[in-house]
Amino acid sequence: MSQKIPTRLYLSEDEIPRAWYNLRAVMKDKPDPILHPGTLQPATASDLEPVFCKECVKQELDETTPLIPIPDRLQEFYRAYRPAPLIRAYFLEKALGTPAEIYYKHEGTNTSGSHKLNSAAAQAYYAKEEGLASLTTETGAGQWGSAMAMACAFFGIGLKVFMVKVSSEQKPYRKALIETYGANLIPSPSNTTESGKKILAENPDTGGSLGCAISEAIEVAVKTDKCRYVLGSVLNHVLLHQSIIGEEVKAALDKYGVKPDIIIGCAGGGSNLGGLIAPFMGDKIAGKSNTRFIAVEPASCPSLTRGRFAYDFGDTAKTTPLLRMYTLGSGFIPSANHAGGLRYHGMNSVLSKLYRDGHLEARSEVQTDVFKAAVQFAKIEGILPAPESSHAIKAAIDEALECKRTGEKKVILFGLTGTGYFDMTAYMSYNAGTMGDRIPSDADLERGFATLPDIPQNQHTSP
Ligand SMILES: *Cc1c(COP(=O)(O)O)cnc(C)c1O
Repeated sequence: MSQKIPTRLYLSEDEIPRAWYNLRAVMKDKPDPILHPGTLQPATASDLEPVFCKECVKQELDETTPLIPIPDRLQEFYRAYRPAPLIRAYFLEKALGTPAEIYYKHEGTNTSGSHKLNSAAAQAYYAKEEGLASLTTETGAGQWGSAMAMACAFFGIGLKVFMVKVSSEQKPYRKALIETYGANLIPSPSNTTESGKKILAENPDTGGSLGCAISEAIEVAVKTDKCRYVLGSVLNHVLLHQSIIGEEVKAALDKYGVKPDIIIGCAGGGSNLGGLIAPFMGDKIAGKSNTRFIAVEPASCPSLTRGRFAYDFGDTAKTTPLLRMYTLGSGFIPSANHAGGLRYHGMNSVLSKLYRDGHLEARSEVQTDVFKAAVQFAKIEGILPAPESSHAIKAAIDEALECKRTGEKKVILFGLTGTGYFDMTAYMSYNAGTMGDRIPSDADLERGFATLPDIPQNQHTSP
């Protein structure tokens, strides 16, 4: 390979992928099926359709179609902000003095500020096509709510957003952004739903969690005519939509003959990581590469590194179908970590299966170390990263420093999932030296595991 790698590895509009990559279709060992919580039988489309849009349900259950076409109108929307830049981190490599090559895919260039718009647009598009009048959803840090608000404004459909209360207080500008795009925002837990009232009665001072907000949003969706619920992570159809990230990266790297040795992503519910690694993991499963994949999660919410592989609910009120995943228990409420987008008790079932089978590695990081890496990256590469994304930055820097120690010239790729412009409260706390690290004790985790459903499938659940 003699061609000099440019700082930006461009793709033209014509090179944007026209179909999503369905990783499950190429997995030899499939993840366990979603179960109906009442019958404990595999969930069918008719079980899921009262809650989710029809097309999303179809995608959720599809484990055989390798490539799923992206509708034309959605491709047009994608072209307004894609391809997302793939950047060679020459400055960072030099500053670290590493022989490694470092690349990052920057998903923060759209106004919502993160990769979440890729799935938000798809879900709003399908809802509109189905003839629905409105959607409900939850948002943790506010990125998903912002993305959905943008997408619903574009495709012309109503939106109610339940925002985790601590985030709505930490991030008033996120709230304002969501409202500017026309969505109705309610801090969660709220007294507008039965599940919200119940959570408040048990725990009046709670700052909320993604799990609580999901319960409220589902409740409103099933009780409202022509309304469905949309979720921004965890589910397979969300990972499918995010596969455009990995497909673009692969197309651009292939153009320049670059093969990644290590791919790193932060992991909340797993959507960006699942999307980033999808085509590369497909190659690895097919025996065509030996890439390492690393999930990075917060030490305050360590689903992969300290969770149990079990069937669990996706929400605190235990209303969703059961997913077999690494989980801390749907009753686990993580401490108020600033990476709000990573405060989720479970992990997508495909990624959980890949981790279980040894195809994916995982590590956790404390937030002060993560912010140290974030500030270092901002100063060197110029981009102010989201706290969530900074977990991947931390791991990429560590891997590059390991290459410096061993002299290996590895190719490291990481997902820069978003920008941190709305996270200045977190940066202020880091700059002032008041940021702390709260790591759950084993006893805290046991309290979460005690909320796992007591069903035969969970009898041999191992740590
Ligand atoms: C939501 C979010 C994440 C985590 O969500 P995943 O579904 O795990 O990708 C990571 N980074 C940013 C910027 C986010 O908004």
